[in-house]
Amino acid sequence: MFKGDKKQKKQTSGITLVALVVTIVVLLILAGITITLIFSDSGIINKVREAAEKTKNSIANDQSDMTNLANQIENLVGGGKKPDTSTKLADVKGTPVTETTEVTDDDGDKMWVPKDFTVTEGDKIDEGVVVKDPKGNEFVWVPVDNIYTMVYCQAHSTATNNIEYDDAGKKLVCTSCKTEEKTTNFAGKLYENSGTFSASKESWTFSSSGYREPDKLSSYDDNDANFNSVKDGNYENFKAQLQDEFNKMAASVWKYKGFYIGRYETSGLESGTPIVKPNQPPTTATDGTNWYTMYTNSKNLGSSEVTSSMIWGCQWDQVMLWMQGVENPTVPGAKYITNSSGMGWYYGEKGIDDVDNSNNLTGVDLKKEIEGKQVVTNRVKNIYDLAGNMYEWTLEAYNTGFRVGRGGGYYDSGSDYPAIDRSNYGPDVSNYNLLSSRVALYVK
Ligand SMILES: [Zn+2]
Repeated sequence: MFKGDKKQKKQTSGITLVALVVTIVVLLILAGITITLIFSDSGIINKVREAAEKTKNSIANDQSDMTNLANQIENLVGGGKKPDTSTKLADVKGTPVTETTEVTDDDGDKMWVPKDFTVTEGDKIDEGVVVKDPKGNEFVWVPVDNIYTMVYCQAHSTATNNIEYDDAGKKLVCTSCKTEEKTTNFAGKLYENSGTFSASKESWTFSSSGYREPDKLSSYDDNDANFNSVKDGNYENFKAQLQDEFNKMAASVWKYKGFYIGRYETSGLESGTPIVKPNQPPTTATDGTNWYTMYTNSKNLGSSEVTSSMIWGCQWDQVMLWMQGVENPTVPGAKYITNSSGMGWYYGEKGIDDVDNSNNLTGVDLKKEIEGKQVVTNRVKNIYDLAGNMYEWTLEAYNTGFRVGRGGGYYDSGSDYPAIDRSNYGPDVSNYNLLSSRVALYVK
């Protein structure tokens, strides 16, 4: 038993040794195959490398496609009238543009140049860029980045996120009015000068007894005879007409983010077509020319590309907001819009001191001396005489019988009657040579 066992054991050891050698040989063969599989050109490591590269490329391609798609959507949705936003302001300067074009200055600010208009002066939009129409009238672009500083829905006046542009109707709508299936009537936001002008302070909401727009004056505008000097016909819908004109202006300012203001006080209104050129005597409320004449004739600078109008009060105030940081170099610590001394034609300044007090309502010689003479000290952001010289009638209404003049006149002082100032006059006044007007344009 014992021997047998021993023999058996020996036999077992021998078999194990052979098996070990065979196993090692087999392992070596397998290892060779495995190494080939892993490290050869078509091996696993290279396959993994290729897969990683392909994944990376595929992600990059996806990102690129997404970016292209986003750009296309942006062009379709937010591109405005013409989708080309790459035109540089400097590239169009001096030559009329062949189509209404958005241009960008070196700061990245943007403005629209109407077809056939020429950029003539200014390199930075925020400092005032001047354009000329085909007849040589001059205008300056006023940027309006936030429409809520300028207009509000009369029915939902406090909301600041309720206005949207209806592309199909080319109009603005209030989203609350839309829900209630009402037509939106917009109104102008008007800012007061209380000596401490603040951009956040809109002082007046829509009320027939206060400053507001758009609105008719029940003491005058209900009487068709007051329109006879400018137009035959029935003005019973004058309020609706003004509302329509206001809504169209607001929609354009929203869409194009700005509007144009005449660079000078307006001439030529007494006889028909406005003239907005240097060194012209401004039209005054004399010889039968009244607010109705100026309102009607201010429309005569329009074209297929732009609408012209007497300026609205809220447009004047947008100019004031734009200029609120401008300092008055002649009065330490003062700002131009609230103290315009030395920055306009005012009594007692720049040699304007020979005024016959009793005569200032009917044609004082002084006016003839200063009219149409523009000096650079009266120019702010490339716009002349917003302060001083003539009061400038606007479309803003006050109480039942007044239209609002802005900016002070040559018979005033610049500290009491600065650029932001308001004065109220009956629209039939036609014997007051301190009153002129200012036109504005908006892109259609
Ligand atoms: Zn509303």
